[in-house]
Amino acid sequence: MSCINDSVCKMCRRENVKLFLKGDRCYTDKCSFERRPYPPGQHGQSRLKFSEFALQLREKQKTKRYYGVSEKQFVGYVHKADRAADVTGVALLKLMESRLDNVIYALGFGNSRRESRQLVSHNHILVNGKRVNIPSYSVKKGDVVEIAQGSREMNKILGAIQAVSRRSVPSWLDADHAHFKGTVKETPARDEVSLAVEENMIVEYYSR
Ligand code: SF4
Repeated sequence: MSCINDSVCKMCRRENVKLFLKGDRCYTDKCSFERRPYPPGQHGQSRLKFSEFALQLREKQKTKRYYGVSEKQFVGYVHKADRAADVTGVALLKLMESRLDNVIYALGFGNSRRESRQLVSHNHILVNGKRVNIPSYSVKKGDVVEIAQGSREMNKILGAIQAVSRRSVPSWLDADHAHFKGTVKETPARDEVSLAVEENMIVEYYSR
């Protein structure tokens, strides 16, 4: 039996990596990628030789899909990273990690980045005591992120907190699940990005 929302799971199979787009399901044996770890389509199991361009494209698509951003937003991040003091590819990943929706997911208040994005846009999140409903909001060292008082009984959030033991909270964040909050201790380091990606290939893709 195929995955219920196969189109989402196909992204993982296409990118040959688990992107954790479906929350709970990603941690069960119902995960489509675990069952069929090869690209979808007629030639999915053939050994294909990829051009340099195709490899760069896949790294770009994989990263975009992992963080759930549009092409337009992603290009904006690449330009911003290009102006940063860090190596461009590393700066790009740090920018993606610092998005508020990613932080909510990483802290364990959402089961997936998509769900976390909804929590932000539906006004359930405060940053430093003020409501922020912009998923792309970039957190900084010292920021305190919390679930709004009136949203703490939401099943979605309580379920995510219960399930968070399946994955570890990155060390640049400090999660306080008992008080529905988290603190940004540091800017994210490159080696804490759990997605296996060659970020230099993304930069090369956009340098063409
Ligand atoms: Fe689907 Fe999640 Fe598995 Fe990806 S990791 S294939 S989104 S269940």
